[in-house]
Amino acid sequence: MNWYYASQGRRVGPVDDTEFEALVETGAITQDTLVWNETLSKWTPYGALDQGATPSDVRIPKAEPRQESNTPQPEQRDVSFTGNNATCNECGKRFAQDDMIRYQNVWVCANCKPIFLQKLKEGADVSGALVFAGFWERFAAKFLDGLIQGVVNTALGAVINVALFTLGGRGGHASAAIVVVSQLFQLALSAAYTTFFVGKYGATPGKMALGLQIVTADGGEVSYARALGRYFAEWLSGLTLTIGYLMSIWDDEKRTLHDRICDTRVVKKKR
Ligand SMILES: [Zn+2]
Repeated sequence: MNWYYASQGRRVGPVDDTEFEALVETGAITQDTLVWNETLSKWTPYGALDQGATPSDVRIPKAEPRQESNTPQPEQRDVSFTGNNATCNECGKRFAQDDMIRYQNVWVCANCKPIFLQKLKEGADVSGALVFAGFWERFAAKFLDGLIQGVVNTALGAVINVALFTLGGRGGHASAAIVVVSQLFQLALSAAYTTFFVGKYGATPGKMALGLQIVTADGGEVSYARALGRYFAEWLSGLTLTIGYLMSIWDDEKRTLHDRICDTRVVKKKR
């Protein structure tokens, strides 16, 4: 039998009887947790099903054909579907959150669900507590990104110098324009670099090298839009005499100013 249950305002499932029992045993499903399966006409607190019974013991009469149109169905329940992706706590791959189960602040993909539930049963520590990256790790990552972008910019600068030299005889206007254009180009390049890597991989190459990842507050994936917004928000961290960066030192979640603005966290990757 396929079960669904509500966790933190989300519908989770389907899980089979064994998984369901494991979730009950570990306390992920409590007496108050709303649960549903195809034999139930509406979402019901687990405790109201049959006190103390395990799902396989529960004998629920076959569902009558549903006449009432206002009978809550799982898909009509007041739960939010964000359409976001999340990183599986077991395999580290990314999946749509709708295809995953959520346990506390941990996301687990369908493939890893059996392993995960087995671990839960064995009482292993499955806490997906985010491990926040410290100031120096982030500084090192930033430094690496600076090096990479520096190489690109130097190459670009060489091209521009050649262009300036070629246009040398034609007065200052053309060369001034080239400088402005090249500045804008470098800005666009820098924004694109950050947005692309953070949006696609959750980390710039510098962060990847240090095993760091940018995630949302609940450990989810950072969208391209948020990545771009964060790029510009980071300017503020720079403009505040880098106090925006230093904020991570005393913040309990090691957030910089731009992390606070964009509600992101920088965490150490599990593997
Ligand atoms: Zn997985």
